[in-house]
Amino acid sequence: MTGLMIGALTWEVHAIKYADRNARRRADSFLFDDNHDAPHAMDFFMWLLRCGDRVILVDTGYDHAEAAQRGRPIRLDPREALDPLGITPEDITEVIVTHLHYDHAGGLALFPNAHLHLQEAEMAFATGPCMCHDTLKAPFTASHICEAVTRLYRGKLSFHAGDSQIADGVTVHCIGGHSRGLQCVRVRTAAGWLVLASDAAHYYENVTARKPFPIVVDLQNMLDGFARLEQLASSPNLIIPGHDPLVRQLFPRGVADHITRLDQGPISEISS
Ligand SMILES: [Zn+2]
Ligand SMILES: [Zn+2]
Repeated sequence: MTGLMIGALTWEVHAIKYADRNARRRADSFLFDDNHDAPHAMDFFMWLLRCGDRVILVDTGYDHAEAAQRGRPIRLDPREALDPLGITPEDITEVIVTHLHYDHAGGLALFPNAHLHLQEAEMAFATGPCMCHDTLKAPFTASHICEAVTRLYRGKLSFHAGDSQIADGVTVHCIGGHSRGLQCVRVRTAAGWLVLASDAAHYYENVTARKPFPIVVDLQNMLDGFARLEQLASSPNLIIPGHDPLVRQLFPRGVADHITRLDQGPISEISS
């Protein structure tokens, strides 16, 4: 991609880990994987962008109530997870919702002042006939979708269709694939254009080996999405997968153990 403009605004990007799930196998992460029975851990993140006084939260995690309902415990309430950054829940006035799955939209109600940025296709998907299928509905929770609808009726939700600018140096790009209206977030940083893939790539290996993740709505969109992530980022090292524990090894520790600083670039390279 093109280089950064001299003097252009750059953003801090923090990856905030709030949960992990380690009793998983590679078959849970990759379709058609030869080594399907091998263990494969997963981390759960939300992300925070900051430039001067402007703060944008990317996804919200999920709370203890959702954790109990799904039998998937969290290590930190999303509000507590933000605390070391000096940010209160009331400070959050903007949230980019990459998609409406429970682990990304499950904390919307915790940030009552937030204006939401969502793809049209994601709301249509989460409230449409596809939700009549249990398999497609499984990663969604009705109360999270209702919270997004409530925010819409309060005038606190903007729809985006495809590519859209949220702020100087922050754009969203609809990829679909894993969920119909999944959007990634491209951010201008000191290290170059960084792309928060969210679930357009759960792991580095989804992209580098072009291996689809098993939760998929449109396989062609998912595969096309891997190439799109590469086009949007200044380098492959600046594609940040949504759930890969490797992120915490490749990038430096942030202001707390569960926070990783992404905008200065990696401290070691991914081996592909
Ligand atoms: Zn997802
Ligand atoms: Zn996810």
